[in-house]
Amino acid sequence: MDFLVLFLFYLASVLMGLVLICVCSKTHSLKGLARGGAQVRMILGCIIQFLQEETPMNKPCLFSFRNHTFIVLHLVLQGMVYTEYTWEVFGYCQELEFSLYYLLLPYLLLVVNLFFFTLTCVTNPGIITKANELLFLHVYEFDEVMFPKNVRCSTCDLRKPARSKHCSVCNWCVHRFDHHCVWVNNCIGAWNIRYFLIYLLTLTASAATVAIVSTTFLVHLVVMSDLYQETYIDDLGHLRVMDTVFLIQYLFLTFPRIVFMLGFVVVLSFLLGGYLLFVLYLAATNQTTNEWYRGDWAWCQRCPLVAWPPSAEPQVHRNIHSHGLRSNLQEIFLPAFPCHERKKQE
Ligand SMILES: [Zn+2]
Ligand SMILES: [Zn+2]
Repeated sequence: MDFLVLFLFYLASVLMGLVLICVCSKTHSLKGLARGGAQVRMILGCIIQFLQEETPMNKPCLFSFRNHTFIVLHLVLQGMVYTEYTWEVFGYCQELEFSLYYLLLPYLLLVVNLFFFTLTCVTNPGIITKANELLFLHVYEFDEVMFPKNVRCSTCDLRKPARSKHCSVCNWCVHRFDHHCVWVNNCIGAWNIRYFLIYLLTLTASAATVAIVSTTFLVHLVVMSDLYQETYIDDLGHLRVMDTVFLIQYLFLTFPRIVFMLGFVVVLSFLLGGYLLFVLYLAATNQTTNEWYRGDWAWCQRCPLVAWPPSAEPQVHRNIHSHGLRSNLQEIFLPAFPCHERKKQE
């Protein structure tokens, strides 16, 4: 009975976490799934459009203005995982004489992660102003499909450079706009996407290393104490040999916090790993999330099940910015930058 209550609590918490992550990163996870199949794609397309529309009665919701809620939540979750790791896993592993380098690796990743997290939060993503508008207009070619020439932003009244977009949350136009990330409370654009990539990479790596160390500890414990050779008496009074399910129940009841934290970081590692692969794919092919999404949505608009009447003249978007892997990555890590801008302003 105890196990059942704990297990249900555990399951409910993990599910709540998953729902929260899906809602918060709606433009990533839902769209990631949308690649799966045509039907899923159409349904999700509708959901995404619904989620991106303004809330009823224009009531501001948590996602419609800049706020620090998710930065605090991010730090609290990270703090909880590392507290549990330090408090129990680290101590037990030291007793079992695990290598200290191995145990300190999650802390090293945490330091690097927090450094790039801060950089992503505070770096100007490439905000377009009256002063730098002209410079940005010459950075990318207009493809006349997704980014036509001579278009003005209806809010800022600035000319829209190719690949830019107005962020409705921050209320500014951003050069090479990728997306607005609530977890860093900032837009991700040309000038901070490199920091965002390293932040995401180290966050995935830190979740994965905590998961690996914790799993190794539990496996080590089971092997050392020959737990799988033990027997137990079931509800009907029969003597049974320890099976996997009972072993998991036993570990859950003996180390509830470690198993709970392990479940969380394993789910997180898979979610972040999947998203990281998606972001790396975009970087390698020189696309932004905004462009990928709009290309995807253009496909949906031509489908009679999603948009009626379907667009008669299909507009084919072609990626004209990809010039090979090396050049694409160079654009992310060495973006065209402010030294030109400063010279121009002087
Ligand atoms: Zn604008
Ligand atoms: Zn923004």
